[in-house]
Amino acid sequence: MTDEDTAREGKGTIFVRAEICKGCSFCIDFCPTDCLEFSKDFNAKGYHYPVLVRPADCNGCDMCGLFCPDFAIYGERWKKLDERRSAGGAPAAARGAEVPAGAAVSVPSVQQYRPADPAGVLTGTHFLDGDHAACEGALAAGCRFAAGYPITPSTEVVERFAARAPRVGGMFIQMEDELASSIAIQGAAWGGAKVLSVTSGPGLSLMMEHIGLAAITETPSVWVDVQRGGPSTGLPTLPGQADMMQAKWGSHGDYEIIALSPNSPQECFDLMIKAFNLAEEYRCPVMFMMDEVVGHMTERVVIPEASELRVLDRKWTQKKPGEYLPFATTEDDLVPEMVKAGEGHRIHVTGLTHDERGYPAMNPEAQDRLVKRLADKIRRNKDKIVDVREDGVLGADIVVVSYGITSRVAISSVAAAREKGLKVGHLRLVITWPFPAKRIRELVGTVRAFVVPELNLGQMVLEVERAVAGRAAVVSVPHAGGTVHEPEVILASIVDVARALEGNKLAEVAS
Ligand code: SF4
Ligand code: SF4
Repeated sequence: MTDEDTAREGKGTIFVRAEICKGCSFCIDFCPTDCLEFSKDFNAKGYHYPVLVRPADCNGCDMCGLFCPDFAIYGERWKKLDERRSAGGAPAAARGAEVPAGAAVSVPSVQQYRPADPAGVLTGTHFLDGDHAACEGALAAGCRFAAGYPITPSTEVVERFAARAPRVGGMFIQMEDELASSIAIQGAAWGGAKVLSVTSGPGLSLMMEHIGLAAITETPSVWVDVQRGGPSTGLPTLPGQADMMQAKWGSHGDYEIIALSPNSPQECFDLMIKAFNLAEEYRCPVMFMMDEVVGHMTERVVIPEASELRVLDRKWTQKKPGEYLPFATTEDDLVPEMVKAGEGHRIHVTGLTHDERGYPAMNPEAQDRLVKRLADKIRRNKDKIVDVREDGVLGADIVVVSYGITSRVAISSVAAAREKGLKVGHLRLVITWPFPAKRIRELVGTVRAFVVPELNLGQMVLEVERAVAGRAAVVSVPHAGGTVHEPEVILASIVDVARALEGNKLAEVAS
């Protein structure tokens, strides 16, 4: 692929490696401005290859590059091209070959935020579905290794990752199943990469053992679950939110995870970066709890310049071999420092209960120390981690608690209830685990009832009940999945609760 260009027309141009093109026509079919055609010539393999026949129409969007299965074409905006050349960079496709996976990781003396690596950031305004936006968020966060097994409705996340990763020095492996995928990413994490696995429905069930392994070995990792209807194979193409408890409790033993619930493609991008930062900070599995509707809805997604994104690197040790204990922590910081396998430290990583050296320690004292620390590193930082978005909860009689796609529906139900003169607030869980019990308890003094719509038969509502502890009414608005709630259903529940409040008959509506 050459980096030469002649006339400057349009907003961008393309670079073509004619010799490896196999003439599949994807680039031509998916070019939004129809500016490509096949050449009259043949390449050495006997295929016509794409040529830019209407250069004034090319906007450098790189859709051709995204869809090319052989990385034989690449589109770039003139502005980006000039910036890259002034920085001495090669074309993106060539950059991919030069940057080995994990090489972007530096060794800072303390864990600190830095701007994102521009190679992984597709700056611009896009029209993306949630799955694709999640992939872009992962790449922007510095994720350079993903493994997965195709399963609806999550496949598009890694489909895009497979196409994009080689351009930024990353790699995707489609493993033989979810068990293999969920262990492959952990090998890559210990090799130094930021890692991702993606699944849905029964795939999440299969991954559970290895999510437990990531918890006990403190392997930074992000796990995307694009939730669909269940149990078992359930409704592969339709939404659900019924994995919320499985995300927290699905693997055996005591441990803590963090879970995020985006409600739009823009949040799939933004929160994915946050998910990676949390995985690096707390060295635990971070669950990215999407759902089919969020995964497949297509909306405007704005990806900022790399310099505007905040990315956290792993807490690499500065200690020399012999000084370093892989699982040693301090009272103030319960998250151990990490090393990259193969860089001089001898490390032992096991799913058995282990001591600070990482060696198996089969006794109750070691179990007590390790398991409590795995839980405490999240529990002690709960206030820092929780993320709720509130709308009109102060002074409200009733608060709707929602998350993910249900929160989008609840917005219109809350607005309709307010039009009826009801004092209703909305509290959205952006981070679902750890659950913001403290905030719910604070509200109980003024709020008299909580309404909790979910695409399940009542899961997170149990946490609301636990936090409220009988001091306010809690009303579940369950839905078995397959579609979303009708806004009128949530509204009807709010109105019922309001009437019960008036008549002092809350017990009749409370779940
Ligand atoms: S960069 Fe975009 S506009 Fe240009 S040829 Fe490729 S797909 Fe078409
Ligand atoms: S998508 Fe790639 S392989 Fe297919 S015709 Fe275009 S350049 Fe050639």
